[in-house]
Amino acid sequence: MGKKQKKMKQVEIQLIRNATLKLSYAGKTILVDPMLSPKNSFMSFVVPNQNLNPTKDLPFSIEKITQDIDAVLLTHSHPDHFDQKAMEVLDKDLPFYTQPADNELVKNANFTQVESISDTASFYDINIVRTSGKHGPAEILPQLGEVSGFVLKATDYPTIYIVGDCIWDDEIEANIEKFNPEIIITNSGGAIFMGKDRILMDEKETIKVAKKAPNAQIISVHIESLDHCKVTRESLKAAFNRENLEIFIPKDGESLTL
Ligand SMILES: [Zn+2]
Repeated sequence: MGKKQKKMKQVEIQLIRNATLKLSYAGKTILVDPMLSPKNSFMSFVVPNQNLNPTKDLPFSIEKITQDIDAVLLTHSHPDHFDQKAMEVLDKDLPFYTQPADNELVKNANFTQVESISDTASFYDINIVRTSGKHGPAEILPQLGEVSGFVLKATDYPTIYIVGDCIWDDEIEANIEKFNPEIIITNSGGAIFMGKDRILMDEKETIKVAKKAPNAQIISVHIESLDHCKVTRESLKAAFNRENLEIFIPKDGESLTL
């Protein structure tokens, strides 16, 4: 990849599927937004009463995905980020970081080490900062609920901004200004809610992120795994190519070391 981090220690970012990521950062491995159900096991977001999601299988066995995890980080509890299968299979004693709005839900799933992050938390050498954002236009937010993003910081490591299920707005812009991240992970599937409103960034909004942070490595996920996501890896890459901008769009299971 082109953007060189200056004298920083390496991080590894692996996309599992959709928004599920494994981050190897400052000596720890963090599982982000675990959706571990097999293909076609929960409801479609387009067609009523059909189990069409996720639209892809996991790239690896659940054992392989979960074997070396030190903590879980959850941006919000929609089933494409935290599903029944994850509740079943994850070690209940793992440190589990969540937004306050999902604290009870995670505790009720029998996790014992739940930490609700209002503002910041520390996990070994890692500082986790919760960031704001909106999962769609204002009029449908009561239906979609609260979502968070997170910024990960550690001495000598690049700062990573996990934007979460947020559309582009002045809050996201302000987060980029405030944290000046070297790496930004966007959920860019352009999902459409109830056939009408877009509730994730699309190609154009992801380009706004890249233009706001010209020195950051943009990594886009939450693509081609759910039936209401309209952006494809190909359409996003083409949009970036037209603007002469760099982006990394991992395949399921692919890792990037930065
Ligand atoms: Zn989502």
